[in-house]
Amino acid sequence: MGNDGGSIPDRRDLVRTKKKAEQADKHNQLIARWFFCALSKRPLQEPIVSCALGKLYNKDAIIEYLLDKSAYGDGEDICGHIRSLKDVKTLKLTPNPSQVPEGADAETHARFICPLTLKEMSGGVPFLYLATCGCVFSQAGLRSIATSSPKDDDEKDICPQCSTKFTRAKDLIALNPDPEEQTRLRNELEARRAVEAASKPKKSKKRKAEEAGAEPAPKRTAADSKAAPYTNHAVATSRVVANALVAEEQKRKALMSDAVKSLYAPKDGTAKKETFMTRGTFTRYA
Ligand SMILES: [Zn+2]
Repeated sequence: MGNDGGSIPDRRDLVRTKKKAEQADKHNQLIARWFFCALSKRPLQEPIVSCALGKLYNKDAIIEYLLDKSAYGDGEDICGHIRSLKDVKTLKLTPNPSQVPEGADAETHARFICPLTLKEMSGGVPFLYLATCGCVFSQAGLRSIATSSPKDDDEKDICPQCSTKFTRAKDLIALNPDPEEQTRLRNELEARRAVEAASKPKKSKKRKAEEAGAEPAPKRTAADSKAAPYTNHAVATSRVVANALVAEEQKRKALMSDAVKSLYAPKDGTAKKETFMTRGTFTRYA
């Protein structure tokens, strides 16, 4: 390889270029995505589930994660968007009937195929699943049996495997999409969650109001006749306002009675605290 006078080595022979390393890395990533659980990094074993971002997981790993969020060190980064088993779909996969070739790595032999095109699911061709039933097809296979035009978003399609209805516009989720698509899906998911979260506080406010309304109720019945006019007056207004008024009235009375009590406290008790500054000036506080 040079230095013997026979040939002149150039940079290409001596330096392992980055490109080769990148290619090997890409291949490893492909294997990792299609043959291993994204969370536990163990080989995919049925039942296999997928999330809204199209990543593949072993269902037991997801359950483990949901029970203990720290079960996997980087669990929050990988599937922080999975809050419950409702956020994943169990996939219905078609087993690959072909045997592992002699000498081939069993772990990287495609175990599933598209039931329509019989293409192997190994990252070579794009695959997707239906969010409604979890059936997995190759993109090309599902496109070939398209019954409605892709522009017609509202029209329902029927799953070619289990006849469950689905909407082409929103129920098709690509498995292991490219990073750009994954980012788009993640943003979409976050936007959807934000809308959900924005609609929730209304409910909790209502609940708080109900709780606030329920708590002071016994006090109202215990309140003496002086408080009654306030509650009667407030009947026309909301129950919450009435309860707030009662609570306020009671607070005011409690404060007042303290002040009044201090006036009528035992003489020897007050005499000790009294100084020339306060002597005979109690009327200021009444
Ligand atoms: Zn189906």
